[in-house]
Amino acid sequence: MYVCMFWIYSRIHPPAQSIHPVCSSKPSTTTSTSSTSTEDLSQRSNDEIAQLVISHQIKDHTLEKRFDTHRAVEIRRLAFDHKLSSLGNASALSSLPYQHSLDYSSVYGANCEIVVGYVPLPVGMVGPVTLNNESVYIPMATTEGCLVASTNRGCKAISQGGTGAHSRIVKDGITRAPCLRLPSAMAAADMKAWCETPVHFQRLKAAFESTTSFGKLTSCAPTVAGKNVYLRLTCVSGDAMGMNMVSKGSLAVIDVLQREFPSMVLVALSGNMCTDKKAAAMNWIEGRGKSVVIETTISKKVVETILKTSVGRMVSTNYQKNLIGSAMAGSMGGFNAHASNNVTAVFLATGQDPAQNVESSNCITLVEETTDGDLWMSCTMPSIEVGTVGGGTSLAAQAACLKAIGCQGGNSNCPGGNAKKLAQVVAAATMAGELSLLAALAANELVSAHMQHNRKPAGKK
Ligand code: ADP
Repeated sequence: MYVCMFWIYSRIHPPAQSIHPVCSSKPSTTTSTSSTSTEDLSQRSNDEIAQLVISHQIKDHTLEKRFDTHRAVEIRRLAFDHKLSSLGNASALSSLPYQHSLDYSSVYGANCEIVVGYVPLPVGMVGPVTLNNESVYIPMATTEGCLVASTNRGCKAISQGGTGAHSRIVKDGITRAPCLRLPSAMAAADMKAWCETPVHFQRLKAAFESTTSFGKLTSCAPTVAGKNVYLRLTCVSGDAMGMNMVSKGSLAVIDVLQREFPSMVLVALSGNMCTDKKAAAMNWIEGRGKSVVIETTISKKVVETILKTSVGRMVSTNYQKNLIGSAMAGSMGGFNAHASNNVTAVFLATGQDPAQNVESSNCITLVEETTDGDLWMSCTMPSIEVGTVGGGTSLAAQAACLKAIGCQGGNSNCPGGNAKKLAQVVAAATMAGELSLLAALAANELVSAHMQHNRKPAGKK
């Protein structure tokens, strides 16, 4: 979704020299001017057309404009078979599936370009986990043996350990921070002061919200660095993860600023203080997407029977590892055992942007012993970026996984309700994973569990 801002920008500000349309809308006609562009190819075989692609008489990326999307993929595979053979990698694609499971007409113009097939990922299901008094099953796509089994054990401990898990969204807002350049540092300081004046914020907000029916601009935070201003715009985005929405709205804000500050130059729509898909203290401290806190209390008995360790060992392992160990490593947002494992597996299953696992995995895991001798645990995750509409969420398999959780599509009663539920489910999967891995480490059973789930005995198919 990040790359789509270039598409949005080029639509709103048509460039003198065309910006590469990374995510083009679905075109209806071809724009190629080569002689084969007008030729009727309907009688030609796939092999013949692949030859035309190889000899550059037809541009690969125009295949979907000329043929139905499934046939376009078949032709492209033939062309790539030829190209890969010339590099000594003949038949490499023969085991890459392309039939039956993916509707290429949904993918085209939305999710991927130059498509030759799809990579099947196993999806495991964990749960039920009791979250906010509701039973939830969570699909996880992964190739890491042990992860699903281990998370399932954590879910069991949460659900049987007491009253389940309870979570809250404590902050909500996706961000975009354009880099704006002024002629001097003093002019940059003037612009910061202008943006911080409440009546001016209302003008920026009105401009932003004229571009979207779901997005609401909630803040505008300028940071000055010399002549540059990084304007971090935050918006709530309903059930969308919101990168397209906030990027489009940001352009409208920039238009207002351009009129007020004619000498201002837009350096980049994303000035990196957003911060998207990069490790940054900004997201850890300020939050991005959904900021979630989740907690659970697990009885001493369940810690001993299901997690097979003791409360004291869990508290100590968490302290020595997730707090002291991460501090010694100079960690930023990594005060956890393996949040990224669960975040990424749920992201892949539910059509989220997997590159956003960088900031979405920010998490501090805290463990204490209660006065009753039970185990209290929480995960605080300030920047979970998820949506249930847009991106990969409408592809059939990913939509099925969202449906299994109970948060597919837009929430018509309460826009944003589905995305908020998904964020809390990501946090629940993370906490289940934290519980189980910490317990395995506390009981020193990690390696033996991995040997059982990751390493098939020799000779066994
Ligand atoms: P993103 O902004 O996450 O990149 P998209 O722009 O791909 O997502 O998808 C959001 C689109 O879905 C917008 O056009 C928006 O109007 C539409 N939409 C429909 N229902 C909802 C909803 N409940 N919440 C947010 N957006 C919605």
